[in-house]
Amino acid sequence: MTAFESYLGPYRWERIGYVGVPFSAGAMEHATSIHIGNSYLNGTLDYETLIAHELSHHWFGNLVTCRTAEDMWLNEGWAVFCESLYQEHLYGRTAYDMNMRTNLNQVIFNTHVQDGAYYAVAGVPHSITYGSTVYDKGATVAHSLRGYLGDIIFFSMIKSYMQTKAYGNQSSAEFRDFITQFSGINMNDFFDAWVFSPGFIDFTVDSFAVVGQVGNQYLVRVDMRQSLLHKTNYANSNRLPLRFWNTNGSFVDSVIEFSGAKGFQSYYFNFVPSQVTLDPAQTYAGAFIQYSEYMHVNDNKTFDLAYYKHKINQAIDSTYFQIIHHFTAPTTEGITYAGLHLSSKRYWTVNYVGQTNDVEGYFRYWRTAQWDSDIITNSADSLVLLYRPKGGVPWQKVNFEKQGNWVVGWLKVNHLLSGEYCLGVYDADYLGTTNSRSEQAVSFHVFPNPSDTDFAFFTNYQQPAIVEIRDINGRWVDRIKINNGQAKWKPTDLKTGTYLVVLYDENEQIIANTKIIYEGKK
Ligand SMILES: [Zn+2]
Repeated sequence: MTAFESYLGPYRWERIGYVGVPFSAGAMEHATSIHIGNSYLNGTLDYETLIAHELSHHWFGNLVTCRTAEDMWLNEGWAVFCESLYQEHLYGRTAYDMNMRTNLNQVIFNTHVQDGAYYAVAGVPHSITYGSTVYDKGATVAHSLRGYLGDIIFFSMIKSYMQTKAYGNQSSAEFRDFITQFSGINMNDFFDAWVFSPGFIDFTVDSFAVVGQVGNQYLVRVDMRQSLLHKTNYANSNRLPLRFWNTNGSFVDSVIEFSGAKGFQSYYFNFVPSQVTLDPAQTYAGAFIQYSEYMHVNDNKTFDLAYYKHKINQAIDSTYFQIIHHFTAPTTEGITYAGLHLSSKRYWTVNYVGQTNDVEGYFRYWRTAQWDSDIITNSADSLVLLYRPKGGVPWQKVNFEKQGNWVVGWLKVNHLLSGEYCLGVYDADYLGTTNSRSEQAVSFHVFPNPSDTDFAFFTNYQQPAIVEIRDINGRWVDRIKINNGQAKWKPTDLKTGTYLVVLYDENEQIIANTKIIYEGKK
């Protein structure tokens, strides 16, 4: 109650009630009488975020209700966001940040799989009124709105909204217009990009340079770029926090505003910045995940959601470090290597202040359904690591040591540099290498096919193997084990259509594939 009253304004109901009821799935936030499954009220804090979630609906949902089912993110996205606010109040900002990072990672990887497509948080179809887009992505949008407005405007706006719109209902557009009116900031561009259109936005500091000097003031130009993940239009009126670092470790914070794919802004400082870091507190839930911290000698740290780890052999005291994992394709400029193509899905930005640090960096590669499957297709692939000091210049191969098998592992760099890193692979044709196992040697049949109920898979490959089913766009559907050359699969909740079926061996190597047609109805 203390947390929510401080963030959202006074509790407006005559009492608080929680009623334990004999059901096992979640809870319902009836005003003053929250019904919650008995198993969640077990005397521990295991379900504290669920208990907090339901209470927060006494603001988002009960006090101001979403106008239509299509606006459900105004209830549920905000209630999920409130789970993290509650944790921030109790355990500090680090707990909030960890929650947001974990949620963002799962939204980028899973929400479109669970909901069947990339949807905007507003205007969702009725089949996913209570889906992950509404709940989990909705929470990321609330977080980004907080970043966009800053805490002072954001929380005073929420309190005013709760007071002004109490016991009424609001659409997403009305909420937008309320914020515009309250803050004086035109919210049309933000809502178009983050609320009314699907997909994700990625930002990068492309480069920075001193371009002039007046007395002891240096004119510093910063160039930004924007990349998109399953999104068609670039976001406009972006306002992003930048941190300008002096070589002595001090810094100045500022903001850059730009629209479209590229933009720049110039600043005057009385020092030459040695580094510019973007959004060091990750106030935006874009298509990137970042970690920032000070380095210490002998640190051995894994930044799991940046798919990166490092070991610090030598560092200047209080050296600041930032790693950003981008879930968008790296840009390419200038000459690339013949026969080499870069990852179409991700790359990293590494920033640290000062260049004399001795850091071993480890970059994760992983051939899974949505990750490096575009570049790691078989065991003959020749994975390489590329580097460039900034945007706008060609990528160059760097020396690395590969630790792991062909499916998953780390690429280790002995002397990490500030700049961008990405994965690439040579075309099999270019290298003259092919999959060592002939696909024709393995038979793979399906019966019945087409089918409106079950499918049975048969192969002459007698070792334990895996059958993976995907839709025609390559989206993951299901995965089952196949033993002694036979397996049965019963689709659940599957749309009529054609599906791809891939047979993998135990090392995740493709040994055969085929197609099936499902004629059941959904
Ligand atoms: Zn809820």
